[in-house]
Amino acid sequence: MENCLFCKIIHGEIPSSKVYENDQVYAFRDINPQAPVHVLVVPKKHVSSVAEISQLADADIAACLHAVSEIAVQEGLSGGYRVISNCGPDACQSVPHLHFHILGGRQMAEQMA
Ligand code: 5GP
Ligand code: ZN
Repeated sequence: MENCLFCKIIHGEIPSSKVYENDQVYAFRDINPQAPVHVLVVPKKHVSSVAEISQLADADIAACLHAVSEIAVQEGLSGGYRVISNCGPDACQSVPHLHFHILGGRQMAEQMA
């Protein structure tokens, strides 16, 4: 997808701090971390958000969540972590390429929003 920030990151056109990659998934550190560990997990195939997830193969969706689980171990998040996917304007999604935030390394607030 042209002019998509995360597609450009996936293709190496914009630099990123990579933490994980396989055929289906790319993961990198958020440029504005909101927790000691803040990683973004994105499918390599462009879809805008969870709202368009039916356009992804089930294997690609599953690969994202397997990556989340593996990255959490890699990052030492043994105490737990939060996984968030903002979808659309009410959720303040700012980059329209599906992504899962992994937030961890500190105690999260009990209230999610
Ligand atoms: P959203 O608001 O769409 O759920 O999350 C988008 C995330 O992308 C934000 O947390 C923001 O800090 C992050 N972000 C925006 N631009 C860049 C960038 O150029 N590089 C990296 N690594 N993260 C970015
Ligand atoms: Zn994209």
